[in-house]
Amino acid sequence: MRDQCLKNKGLRDKFFDTPGSGHYDTAPMPRPGDPLLDAQSLAAAGAVIEREFRIADFARLAERLAGPEGMATARLALSRIEGVAVGDLRVEATAELTCQRCLAPLQRVLESASRLAFVASDEVPVPADLEAVACDPQRLDLAALVEDELLLALPLIARHAEGEVCTLPDAAASQAEEGGRSATRRPFAGLKELLKH
Ligand SMILES: [Zn+2]
Repeated sequence: MRDQCLKNKGLRDKFFDTPGSGHYDTAPMPRPGDPLLDAQSLAAAGAVIEREFRIADFARLAERLAGPEGMATARLALSRIEGVAVGDLRVEATAELTCQRCLAPLQRVLESASRLAFVASDEVPVPADLEAVACDPQRLDLAALVEDELLLALPLIARHAEGEVCTLPDAAASQAEEGGRSATRRPFAGLKELLKH
């Protein structure tokens, strides 16, 4: 199990309605058209949920992007393991970021794949290799979960790759760039990005 609190910090606490826990500062905002899921029942039925979300509806994500355009797709396959509701969640979105070298926009595919165990609290043991998500398993907020995954998939520092146009305004910026020397000889770095599209 990964550090089950890691993903919760500053992300999930605010968005899952956990009565009595007092985790969030403001009441979670239900989004119209995004009903909370009963992960317990869906897991018992072995359901697969596929959804599309507008990035513009993800306020926390949108403020980290150059623009709020685009859609995110999510696929959640539910099952029960050792009595726990488990979700295999795959999320993908193409996001417009700001290059931190030239400040021009750049597109990146954000993607993630996680195996999550939906449990009522962090104390509940979860099967091996699953990441615990503390929430009310009968009121799962898939939209918040998807937004969390995309936030975690954001690059720490967005930059154009080699092979992409990146117009550096002055040489001082390249000197300030850490590890710039070792990054200069990577002929395939840009190719890897290209192959993603
Ligand atoms: Zn750039």
